[in-house]
Amino acid sequence: IITLAIETSCDETSIGVLKNGREILSNRISSQIELHKKFGGVVPEVASRKHIETIDYILDDALKEANISLNDIDNIAVTYGPGLVGALLVGLSYGKALAYALDKPLVGVNHIEGHINANFIEHPELEPPFVCLIVSGGHSHLVYIKDYGEYEILGRTRDDAAGEAFDKIARAMNLGYPGGPIIDELSKEGNKDAVNFPRVYLEEDSFDFSFSGLKSAVLNYLNNQKQKDLDIVVEDVAASFQQAVIEVLVNKTLRAANLKNSNIITIAGGVAANEGLRKLMEEKAKGLGIDVKYPSKILCTDNAAMIGCAGYYDYIKGRISDLDLNAVPNLKLGDK
Ligand code: ATP
Ligand code: MG
Ligand code: FE
Repeated sequence: IITLAIETSCDETSIGVLKNGREILSNRISSQIELHKKFGGVVPEVASRKHIETIDYILDDALKEANISLNDIDNIAVTYGPGLVGALLVGLSYGKALAYALDKPLVGVNHIEGHINANFIEHPELEPPFVCLIVSGGHSHLVYIKDYGEYEILGRTRDDAAGEAFDKIARAMNLGYPGGPIIDELSKEGNKDAVNFPRVYLEEDSFDFSFSGLKSAVLNYLNNQKQKDLDIVVEDVAASFQQAVIEVLVNKTLRAANLKNSNIITIAGGVAANEGLRKLMEEKAKGLGIDVKYPSKILCTDNAAMIGCAGYYDYIKGRISDLDLNAVPNLKLGDK
């Protein structure tokens, strides 16, 4: 089965081709990061316009690289939420038009499900059930993956997403956008014990996250140092902040694996690219006989291949979308 996958939920225009859901024939990604950098974040209207300009070329590239023509496609998977409504509409309308013109089934995909499914592409032997920590630019969830497309949500963030926290702290220190990769790199040169930022666990048995208190603590620290004319060692602040985030993420995920008796933990979403998070999760899981899996960096951040994988499993389960499918900017995980 050949799946054409389309992703335009934020600032990546991406189209890919998958064979039987898990084998990438192509995965073209055009990032708009340079365009949005000067604003310190994604400007929705600019993103939509750029998607429109780019998407035709990306389709050509994706088909060429996969060495197929449009007639070889069996189905079309496209992100319909969550994300920026204008950005989503570009890819969704494009997918619907293709599905109509080619008379092929359309499968609307939840972007967050896509992030989870990146792990199925990376690890051909991986099968549910397992625990998944999803940490992206706009979402943070702890989920038990019961089966393909079947989710039990154990916890979620009550305020900022993990990636959002990285981006905001980087912005406060004028480090650039997106902040996650920059803080990850700086952390390697810094002392994680330099500043004792709070670890926010909420109620003892909670699997929810909260990062806004930590963000305030870092901002207060930066202001204090400035007021007192004291040095700010960016490497140390980055390392101390990152450690406060990843300790909580790792400890809660291990507790979830214990609760669910799961000996597999997967990490998904843009923050799954974080080397500190990967390392700490592996270190702590090792002694417990738990296997930790995450996608390669290019499959952690937004890409169409992960959407194609989620769409493939929906398709073989008979979950096909109508052509009047609309974009749902605040689509929740588990909603169809
Ligand atoms: P969502 O998927 O929630 O809709 P999004 O699609 O904008 O949001 P992703 O593409 O999944 O988010 O991930 C982007 C986020 O990942 C950004 O916040 C970025 O800072 C973060 N990120 C990327 N690489 C790293 C890294 N090495 N360490 C920490 N964070 C990272
Ligand atoms: Mg992006
Ligand atoms: Fe994403």
